[in-house]
Amino acid sequence: MDETDHNEKPADDETTSTDTPDGTDSTVATDRIDGFSGDVDLDDLGLDEEDDDSETDEASRGLFDDLLEGEPIFENKEVLRPSYTPHKLPHREEQINSMATILVTALRGDTPSNILIYGKTGTGKTASAKFVSEELETTSQKYEVPCEVQYINCEVTDTQYRVLAQLANKFIEQNEAYIEGRLEELGERRDAAAEDPTELDGTDFGSVAAVENEIATLEDDLEEFASVPMTGWPTDRVYSTFFDAVDYHERVVVIMLDEIDKLVEKSGDDTLYNLSRMNSELDNSRVSIMGISNDLKFTDFLDPRVKSSLGEEEIVFPPYDATQLRDILQHRAETAFKSDTLSEDVIPLCAAFAAQEHGDARRALDLLRTAGELAERDRTETVEETHVRKAQEKIELDRVVEVVRTLPTQSKLVLYATILLEKNGVHNINTGEVFNIYKRLCEEIDADVLTQRRVTDLISELDMLGIVNAVVVSKGRYGRTKEINLSVPLDETEAVLLSDSRVGQVEDAQPFVQARFDN
Ligand code: ADP
Ligand code: MG
Repeated sequence: MDETDHNEKPADDETTSTDTPDGTDSTVATDRIDGFSGDVDLDDLGLDEEDDDSETDEASRGLFDDLLEGEPIFENKEVLRPSYTPHKLPHREEQINSMATILVTALRGDTPSNILIYGKTGTGKTASAKFVSEELETTSQKYEVPCEVQYINCEVTDTQYRVLAQLANKFIEQNEAYIEGRLEELGERRDAAAEDPTELDGTDFGSVAAVENEIATLEDDLEEFASVPMTGWPTDRVYSTFFDAVDYHERVVVIMLDEIDKLVEKSGDDTLYNLSRMNSELDNSRVSIMGISNDLKFTDFLDPRVKSSLGEEEIVFPPYDATQLRDILQHRAETAFKSDTLSEDVIPLCAAFAAQEHGDARRALDLLRTAGELAERDRTETVEETHVRKAQEKIELDRVVEVVRTLPTQSKLVLYATILLEKNGVHNINTGEVFNIYKRLCEEIDADVLTQRRVTDLISELDMLGIVNAVVVSKGRYGRTKEINLSVPLDETEAVLLSDSRVGQVEDAQPFVQARFDN
């Protein structure tokens, strides 16, 4: 439940009418559920079944009353969400200073070197880049130097067309605003000069007609700007529209390409090639690129020219250690939680778990938020160590579910075969056994049957994803085989597999597995 719901809690909750959501008496509702198969968890519904002595009060309580009543733990949960940009970034001073030292050139009207930023996920790259870009823009406004920052997340905007179109449209928008400002200024000047021609002294305009000329030119320009559609144009037209828009007036432009590795992986390095050679052709403006990558090796795939241009300056974001994560969490917790709602071990434990997860601050914040939500659900007054442990399990399970859900069908079938064996008490399953069941499953749902060799590869992939654990064991003169065990919770994983439209067609797999024992 959202914390705003708590804040808007009605002042008077002693309603005496039978105001349940569906208009029925909640005692009746409870009885109805009680008589049910027992699948419904009354606690989760917030229906309290044991308050016999306060029956009249209970009768008037709606589904949400109990939930609303618990003292909320959060003061402002948004602060713990990934979308929140913190104003303070402890332990990133060095990286932020390096970025600023390079980008300050833009405020002097020169082109900053291109920058490449590396670091694993959750090391504060995006947060730091956004922080620096806001500061840069604020300062440029203060000193009236034309400098702009454009941020693009290439995980979302992942083709050359889309990147260029998005940039073109942003610059067109800015040019329109710029022209409108100029027009207003010129209109006033024209009116003033019409009354008193000396108003034009010291300006570039010799006469009222010259001002009017300029106004007409700008109005024409304004009309000519046409934004780029999200598909359909040839790429070189998109590029030249973008180019003209950037070059419309004098300025330094910093283009931040976040998750740049995703762009290169999906669409190659053409975009980067085009952007990095722009400066030699621009007349009025200058472009500088800041690329941000989660993948330390992504430049291996770049054209050497792009690589050397893009990596003029490199800044590395190392993983946070547990102590640093503790500071970060402490900072955020102060505004996110009500005072005295976190027991002592909560932050250190979140920090320790996230430090194991390659020092990921995102994971640390997720854990803290989820632990708070679990405590809220338990209707306790404080977040305890157990909530953090449960949060860790929940997040881990969510990850597994997501990974399994997005596996290709063939991998799902291999995994399902493993699960069926394990469900029947087989441990240290070997590749041959998995293959036999897999083959039967494929036949059952009319899927192509891969060779045993390919299936072995798929098992290795599942191993790398942390879904199974496959170790090679030597069987003496019978050669080597793999011993496979499931590393994820069986029931949840099976449920995810069966929710797949193809795998779900397997009606009853028990006979195949049984057959294995009969042999
Ligand atoms: P990256 O882009 O490297 O994957 P982010 O910048 O998105 O990582 O950071 C992940 C989360 O951790 C965000 O919610 C961010 O606000 C937070 N975060 C990262 N570093 C810090 C820091 N030094 N101080 C405060 N919050 C941080
Ligand atoms: Mg990021």
